[in-house]
Amino acid sequence: MIPADLGPWCQSPSLREEVDLERIGAYRGLGEVFTEVLEIAGEHTSIAGRTCEGLPLVRVDLPGEESDGPVALVIGGIHAMEFIGVEVALALLRQLVRERGRRRVVLFPLLNPEGYLRAETDLRAGRRRFVRSNSVGVDLNRNWPTHWRTTRLPQRILTFLGSAGSAPLSEPEVAMVVEAMAPVAAERRLERALSLHSFGNKLLVPYGGRWRRPLGSDAHDGHALEVRARLRDRYHLTTPARWVPGLFAYGMELDHFHAWGADPLLVECSSGGLSLTDPASWLHPFRWFNPPDPTRQAAELAVALVPFLQG
Ligand SMILES: [Zn+2]
Repeated sequence: MIPADLGPWCQSPSLREEVDLERIGAYRGLGEVFTEVLEIAGEHTSIAGRTCEGLPLVRVDLPGEESDGPVALVIGGIHAMEFIGVEVALALLRQLVRERGRRRVVLFPLLNPEGYLRAETDLRAGRRRFVRSNSVGVDLNRNWPTHWRTTRLPQRILTFLGSAGSAPLSEPEVAMVVEAMAPVAAERRLERALSLHSFGNKLLVPYGGRWRRPLGSDAHDGHALEVRARLRDRYHLTTPARWVPGLFAYGMELDHFHAWGADPLLVECSSGGLSLTDPASWLHPFRWFNPPDPTRQAAELAVALVPFLQG
């Protein structure tokens, strides 16, 4: 049954109609994301939990060949302003519905609806503000148990980056995913796990919280290189810890995916929308993270990522 309380959200005015998105790109508001999920996935859609502010955490379950067979996990929109990641999650969902595969797919297309709604509200109001965290200022990608550490000095100074939370899993968004997927991982059925971010044209493999590479890193690299070979744009393979040497990312989903025994991949989708020849983009954080052609970029990434999930 379609969750009834998504209904009012689906009546929200279109972001495209209210904001001149010609140069920003044709992105969706929160209600439009929910509408799109329901249109694509219908009865496979459910509400898996609520944020602190009561916003729904939407989940889609697409069956595989066997009900208790292998599983692939997809997370989009863990960081508020990275709308292109949500568009890629929706494009993936469209493809996965058409081409059922061996694995059951569990997809959380927008894990940070509070942050997403803040970024959307800013766009509608014409405000240019960097938004990354949830409503209580926690970076949801520093709140996972693996390699978690209390908020580091750079984040304490640059508070807009968000804190790590008071403890691992302190945030309902992350706790919900872990509660849902940990039993699947314990049965060794979680085979693939993908998270969609932006920007930087990067394919990231573990670790974020350690310099050394983990067991299985050759296989992780192999999967990422296969994805890269299917992409028209140039993507660079690295680990979060080595992206900027000396800057570790503790408590990431990517490291937790690995701890679960899944083949993990984080995609920094696109190179964003910052253009040196367009001064209007220089001080517009939304544009830094989101390319002006989301439809093309999302479709190409989805084609490249389906075999990672189902191959
Ligand atoms: Zn991100």
